[in-house]
Amino acid sequence: EELVDSAASSRLPVTSPSRIESRWGDTSSYGAKKKLQAWCQLSNGDWALGKVESTTGTESVLSFPEGKVLKFNTESLLPANPDILDGVDDLMQLSYLNEPSVLFNLQYRYSRDMIYTKAGPVLVAINPFKEVLLYGKDYIEGYRRKSMDSPHVYAIADTAIREMIRDEVNQSIIISGESGAGKTETAKIAMQYLAALGGGSGIEYEILETNPILEAFGNAKTSRNDNSSRFGKLIEIHFSSTGKISGASIQTCKSRVVQCAVGERSYHIFYQLCAGAPSSLREKLNLKKAVDYKYLKQSNCFSIAGVDDAERFRAVMEAMNVVHISNEDQDNVFKMLAAVLWLGNISFTVIDNENHVEVVADEGAHSVAKLIGCDISDLKLALATRKMKVGKDIIVQKLTLSQAIDTRDALAKSIYASLFEWLVDQINKSLEVGKLNATGDQSVFLIFMALNLLMYKNSFEQFCINYANERLQQHFNRHLFKLEQEEYIQDGIDWAKVEFEDNQDCLNLFEKKPLGLLSLLDEESTFPNGTDLTFANKLKQHLNSNPCFRGDRGKAFSISHYAGEVVYDTTGFLEKNRDLLHMDSIQLLASCNCSLPQMFACKMLVHTENTMGNQYRSSGADSQKLSVATKFKGQLFQLMQRLENTTPHFIRCIKPNNSQLPATYEQGLVLQQLRCCGVLEVVRISRSGFPTRMSHQKFAKRYGFLLLENVAAQDPLSVSVAILHQFNILPEMYQVGYTKLFFRTGQIGALEDTRNRT
Ligand code: ATP
Ligand code: MG
Repeated sequence: EELVDSAASSRLPVTSPSRIESRWGDTSSYGAKKKLQAWCQLSNGDWALGKVESTTGTESVLSFPEGKVLKFNTESLLPANPDILDGVDDLMQLSYLNEPSVLFNLQYRYSRDMIYTKAGPVLVAINPFKEVLLYGKDYIEGYRRKSMDSPHVYAIADTAIREMIRDEVNQSIIISGESGAGKTETAKIAMQYLAALGGGSGIEYEILETNPILEAFGNAKTSRNDNSSRFGKLIEIHFSSTGKISGASIQTCKSRVVQCAVGERSYHIFYQLCAGAPSSLREKLNLKKAVDYKYLKQSNCFSIAGVDDAERFRAVMEAMNVVHISNEDQDNVFKMLAAVLWLGNISFTVIDNENHVEVVADEGAHSVAKLIGCDISDLKLALATRKMKVGKDIIVQKLTLSQAIDTRDALAKSIYASLFEWLVDQINKSLEVGKLNATGDQSVFLIFMALNLLMYKNSFEQFCINYANERLQQHFNRHLFKLEQEEYIQDGIDWAKVEFEDNQDCLNLFEKKPLGLLSLLDEESTFPNGTDLTFANKLKQHLNSNPCFRGDRGKAFSISHYAGEVVYDTTGFLEKNRDLLHMDSIQLLASCNCSLPQMFACKMLVHTENTMGNQYRSSGADSQKLSVATKFKGQLFQLMQRLENTTPHFIRCIKPNNSQLPATYEQGLVLQQLRCCGVLEVVRISRSGFPTRMSHQKFAKRYGFLLLENVAAQDPLSVSVAILHQFNILPEMYQVGYTKLFFRTGQIGALEDTRNRT
């Protein structure tokens, strides 16, 4: 039995302040009605459902299923929904929208393996952390034929394809959530569906096979996710006018070699290579076991429960074949990986009392030189000295131990980052749009980035991610707001346009020139004497007037993001933003007689020249390029521009527990994510609109019998109006449209209660 018109209620307005209040819901007093069920908060913070036995003064007595009877302050109770609404597949169908009702509804479904639920226009996906039987051929077929219609990633992908073909408009599927919430898996599930519907040419198989490669090189085990993506990815899949895939392209956001903590691992591919390389390859690379490499040993974690690295390695090799990476190129890729590993084993000896060092010419140094194809003497020079320009002369300066270690690690990181970039280029060549003859002008973009607002351990990376998140939230709000207003106008209801209060203040804080966070960061990064502390002080000096900024003690500052305040620690900001690689290292790569290092050096030089002219070729000074923050902002703007021209579809992934366990639903954790990624806000905001809709006919039929006079002969609209009057529904609580009645949240619930008690 359907209570409200869910299709019509799937759009909602964005009307109120963008900040999330600590608590939302039906704060209007419920006036705890006897015999009804109500939510009450227990001392541990969890919500429990009880039955109101009696209410005296400000206190209510509630009974619970297990026989317990407890007293609560009546004002603190929140209304529960009628039983017929248990587990509705769209949160918008709930008559009472409050935190516990939403949490309960999601949990009700989750415990029955219904991990997908709509929150109006948004699909909420709760990570099951186990295999659920919701995917594969039969399901794809079911959604394609529309014989299945419960919320699903397939349904979202299906809508995207259909709207693309029908409207000839680009589509985007935007997947967000915390680390470990399921973004990567969800994206793969969506791709499965797109491949099944748009397949035929074989290119769909190549597209799917990019996943194992990109995951091997771009993902690592962290404390929060055994397969955590360390890069942002945008996949664009192009379709011809007949709805067949004609090609694809992938863009990635900078991948960085992670400094891994105890219990975490570096990129999967290193362990896979060490475990799975066949003996001939091992010999070529002088490959040892993972424990023999310092970069891998530091975190003392070598394996992942349930994962066979050797087997994965074979899968990666096979995938490389599928995307047409030649055997020779594959060999070169593995050489670079081994070179990075051996670089970590290079050690230094101190040669004077100023702590200057020399490279030890041991197995590590020899292996690196052989793998990248350079003279060992050049390698030793590049890692232990630096050419500097003093006046017109170039002098050679010896490096101290810590400088040499930094130089070595920076070289390893840049080789890895270049390798990743190169791989993505190769993949894109293989998937090139238009390679097949069927070129079309429509496309579906699949976009997923780690857009999670992190509230703790905030350094430069989170600063960038949270900035991107703020932009995407603005996109999200604007889109939903616009849609809602259109529907009201269409049905001719009296709708005073609600001013939309967005997060522009916060975005200004980041983007304003010259006095915004990014500009100030770049400025300070170019000063040789700039430090994290001088940067923090500069922020306090210039930004204190912005309502979203607060200077904290020492090197800290806070930003009021749309989902709450976040404290950042500026430690490492300048260095990470500069991300320098010394010219000496670039020249070393350029001198190699191996194709990949040469190519990497070439690219780095192009970047350098583009931004700084010829200066560096002659001077041999540090390479300077666009700062990391500026590059990130550029990429983000490009992304936003593409998004603006698409019809978006939103999926919000939720992690139900921090232990990666099945069947474990932690209310507090889920609630925090619902608030953070904006789902709660979407639902809360809808309360100021008219989210519940019912056609005149349906309304008259369902409640007409409650009328005191006989109205059988009257038209549905007159019956509806009579019902509204008889039940004293306040005029501000509803609107009568041409075809539908629009209600504020809770109104139908009250009618429904009366209906059930009659
Ligand atoms: P990160 O931001 O760290 O990259 P993520 O959001 O991409 O995280 P995933 O890697 O997609 O997270 O998911 C983490 C794990 O959760 C997966 O490795 C898988 O074990 C499990 N998982 C996620 N979604 C599903 C699903 N639909 N069915 C079964 N298991 C899933
Ligand atoms: Mg991921």
